[in-house]
Amino acid sequence: MCGIVGYCGRKNISEILLGGLKRLEYRGYDSSGIAVGTDNGITVIRRVGKLKNLIDAVPSMLTAQFGIGHTRWATHGEVSEENSHPHTDCSGKIAIVHNGIIENYQQLKDRLIASGHKFKSQTDTEVIAHLLEEAWDGNLTASVRAILPMLRGTYGLIAMHADVPGVLVGARRGSPLIMGIGKDEMFLASDASAIASHAQNVVYLDDGEIISISETGFSITDADNNDIKKPINDMEFENDDFEKNGFPHFMLKEIFEQTESISRGMAGRLDLAAATGKLGGLNMNENQLRAVRRVVIVGAGTSYFAGCIGANFLESMAGIPARAESASEIAYKDIIIEPDTLYFVVSQSGETADTLIALRELKRKGARVLGVCNAVGSTIARETDGGVYIHSGPEIAVASTKAFTSQITTFAIFALIMARLRNMTSVQGEAFIKAFQAIPSQIKEVLEQDSAILALAKKYCGYPNFIFLGRGVCLAAAYEGALKLKEISYIHAEGVGAGDLKHGPISLISEQMPSLFLVPNDGLRQKNISNIKEVKARCGKVIAICTRGDNEIAETVDDVIEVPETWPILSPFLMIIPLQLFAYHCAVLLGRDVDQPRNLAKSVTVE
Ligand code: GLU
Repeated sequence: MCGIVGYCGRKNISEILLGGLKRLEYRGYDSSGIAVGTDNGITVIRRVGKLKNLIDAVPSMLTAQFGIGHTRWATHGEVSEENSHPHTDCSGKIAIVHNGIIENYQQLKDRLIASGHKFKSQTDTEVIAHLLEEAWDGNLTASVRAILPMLRGTYGLIAMHADVPGVLVGARRGSPLIMGIGKDEMFLASDASAIASHAQNVVYLDDGEIISISETGFSITDADNNDIKKPINDMEFENDDFEKNGFPHFMLKEIFEQTESISRGMAGRLDLAAATGKLGGLNMNENQLRAVRRVVIVGAGTSYFAGCIGANFLESMAGIPARAESASEIAYKDIIIEPDTLYFVVSQSGETADTLIALRELKRKGARVLGVCNAVGSTIARETDGGVYIHSGPEIAVASTKAFTSQITTFAIFALIMARLRNMTSVQGEAFIKAFQAIPSQIKEVLEQDSAILALAKKYCGYPNFIFLGRGVCLAAAYEGALKLKEISYIHAEGVGAGDLKHGPISLISEQMPSLFLVPNDGLRQKNISNIKEVKARCGKVIAICTRGDNEIAETVDDVIEVPETWPILSPFLMIIPLQLFAYHCAVLLGRDVDQPRNLAKSVTVE
């Protein structure tokens, strides 16, 4: 959600800033802008709408050696050019980009207006530029440090001043900010994607830190001006990770990448000899793991559904009571931290505001919290007591696909570890690992049915409503499938427990309301078939995702997609793939903006 980028160096600055913003596009935005320092002061160019509008407006060659850029996702003030970032002070010498929300901006603004400052926008952000103007003492870092205590809320920000050419100062609280090091050039950015083509090393900043960069160096200090030494990490991404590589959309590329991303998430984490798993980052020894009596998994959106499936793995495989909680709910309820309960927070970006707030609340109340994240060095990864990187690689499409299957990969490994420390025999453990390791190649077989799923999408994409049904471990997969469809195709879709159908939703069934059933070959198959028959008896159209060779289902429903046989508990891995492809094809057929659906942002860094 929103992105910022800053550059000090001698390369073509419009290319660097606009290229960086292009890479940040996936986070979601409604307007964009840049500010660069030239011999004549600061030049600001801003545009509403797609980044292309800004690119068209910016001269291809700008002679400037420092500058900042922003993609905005409006929180305060309408989407307009005046409200787009960068924002400037009254003198026009200071420019600011900001990601986050300044909660006390109105009081600050009133006071600044009373002392003569003229505001040009309705944003909360603009107060930062005026506060800096007021605090200006010739030293940009010192001035930024002086105003930060006045700001309530969240920020990742970069400031520049025309009188301090070649220098940018960044600060963060609650919103991500990283620094990139290139050869005679330095960068600041919301995430590594923006600078992956140029920076060889990155430094992840923490809340409360202030960074100053120039072409040749950087310094990081805290609120009291103490120097901070930070580890310098290698840039972990290849340029290719951020390209579509021949696919028409990132989402399709990411769906097809799942064979590799799941294998990456398993690599080195399964031990066939001991018939168990290994997750190095948990920071818990076997005795501590044995002492866990309950597991609570916290996430938002797709990560929440991954948590539901993870909880199911833990209960079925390890016999540990487990449940998933929605991050935005747990953050504000009376959390009862039970002794011996282990908490997980799950977030692809590791920056999800709701999940971060939940994490901080849980920690405040004494819980042990582990993280399951994709983005290395992200805030959640750093603030948890331990955790696991899912290693799915950058996920650019707003609708999550490969991160979801990588998250459940992590939970399957964790459930295996927990099961083997309790009730699971080595023979079962070994059999599980073999079935689990077969999943990537089985996913490949499902992906080969892409054209059949496209045909299905052609047949059904005109329906305005859908019900997705499942039971047991596949219930959350049904929820996730419905979420995918609504996120990107804007077709209304509801996930319903197949057993709950008769308790209400069945009244919706008619010829106009197709149902999509997930029916693995498990102990609930017969019950699912009865539910399918109930729908058919009411003239509802039924699509079923079932196990290969299940003729009884194929004969009962209107359309069927078959997936290979696996352990019933692992069926979400295979059943979710056709649902992702179905959502994708419906969205394309309906002419939707698949990778950047309306109103949504990739990394939801505001509450
Ligand atoms: N709150 C600021 C605004 O509305 C920043 C929003 C963002 O993070 O993009 O302009």
